[in-house]
Amino acid sequence: IDQFKNKNVLVLGMAKSGYTAAKLLHLLGANVTVNDRSSLEGNEQAQELAAMGIRVVGGGHPEHLVSEEVFTVVKNPGIPYSNPLIEKAISLHIPIITEVELAYLISEAEFIGITGSNGKTTTTMLLGEMMKGSQYSPIVAGNIGTVLSEVAQSATSEQVIVAELSSFQLLGIDKFHPRVSVFLNLFEAHLDYHGSIDEYGQAKARLAKNQTADDVIVYNADDKRITALLKDAKAQKIPFSFSGNTKDGAYFDQGYIYYQGETILSQDEMAMPGLHNIENALSAVAAAKVYGVSNDYLRQVLMTFQGVRHRLEFVKELNGRRFYNDSKATNILATQKALNAFKDPVILLAGGLDRGNGFEDLIPSLTNVKAVVAFGETKGKINEAAKTAGVKHVEIVDNLEEAVPCAYQLSSAGDIILLSPACASWDQFATFEQRGDMFIKQVHMLK
Ligand code: ADP
Repeated sequence: IDQFKNKNVLVLGMAKSGYTAAKLLHLLGANVTVNDRSSLEGNEQAQELAAMGIRVVGGGHPEHLVSEEVFTVVKNPGIPYSNPLIEKAISLHIPIITEVELAYLISEAEFIGITGSNGKTTTTMLLGEMMKGSQYSPIVAGNIGTVLSEVAQSATSEQVIVAELSSFQLLGIDKFHPRVSVFLNLFEAHLDYHGSIDEYGQAKARLAKNQTADDVIVYNADDKRITALLKDAKAQKIPFSFSGNTKDGAYFDQGYIYYQGETILSQDEMAMPGLHNIENALSAVAAAKVYGVSNDYLRQVLMTFQGVRHRLEFVKELNGRRFYNDSKATNILATQKALNAFKDPVILLAGGLDRGNGFEDLIPSLTNVKAVVAFGETKGKINEAAKTAGVKHVEIVDNLEEAVPCAYQLSSAGDIILLSPACASWDQFATFEQRGDMFIKQVHMLK
């Protein structure tokens, strides 16, 4: 791939993906400039890049970095298109790509791309396990630690890259082309960035735009928006259906998961809790079937795969109470899904960053909740919603250190104690992982 040789490439954003992209482009012979809004003084990765001969500019986005001399801009997915440098690049018709495109251009391995509003990480990890039963050896990449263009460099044609892809990443693709694309669902999330649900859907639909008749689309047949978005797609379509209304592909019917009429396993045999995880399982089964993975192998994986940390993660049982960490539930929909996963009475710990929204949508899901312990910035709003829902005990505390013992006091044997905050963690934690770890720590301190 010579297209970047001796060309000026601007990498915007110095996070892990920007750092990896810059190194890779340098290797491909490009003249690379990396720019980040924050000061890069003392940043070790920036120093490493500079020592390689890469130009590093931190502390703002000076406009002169974009000119007609720039061949391509590689943008961090989090930087909005309204950024002045990006606006200038658009006006000069400079291609703007994300690191996904780079990964594709250099990779010898084919891709399975997974997108959707919720369930991407879980499905990606699950499918990664299932693909071990195919003739390819899978590499899982995406949000969980590994940067795509890093794994793509060493991937061989005997491997397949199972990639979790956000709409933000997909806006910056040009030729990227998965062999199998997976469309999980489409909810009204990230509308602050994408403007409208249509634009958001269009961004996701880009995953299939370069696919041909030799490729496969696995899609949620219960989701009307997704079905409509893929109407004109060229690839072969394999549906999955939780409702069981569609009985092609993978579907769920009366407690069993099927693929094209053959039983894979029953819901009770699945290790992951929650009905939403049946949807994730269906999509993964349909995708793994493209590669001929046997029913028996799929069944084994589904019987043992426990899910991903911080997503309805079972923590422990103490005196008949079962504790679950669902710190990744950073919006109301995710918390609804978590609550729907349990039949036993739930004590819910919720709250976090206040994004200005109300919590009325949570009310119908609180029927099985016997107590709510609210914490963080949104504790007042959550308290209100819980009271409106008629939850018996509602407690307000400041933080998780107080919330866990409080929840335990309100509980009795047989209860589920669930952290599923319905909010981002950034009011009190740097990441949702830290929030989940704090919850687990507090749970282990209970006597
Ligand atoms: P993503 O990577 O898309 O954020 P995750 O697999 O990390 O998805 O799951 C995040 C949260 O979303 C989970 O805690 C769960 O509550 C919810 N979730 C997972 N799968 C689904 C699904 N298929 N439909 C709706 N919600 C889901």
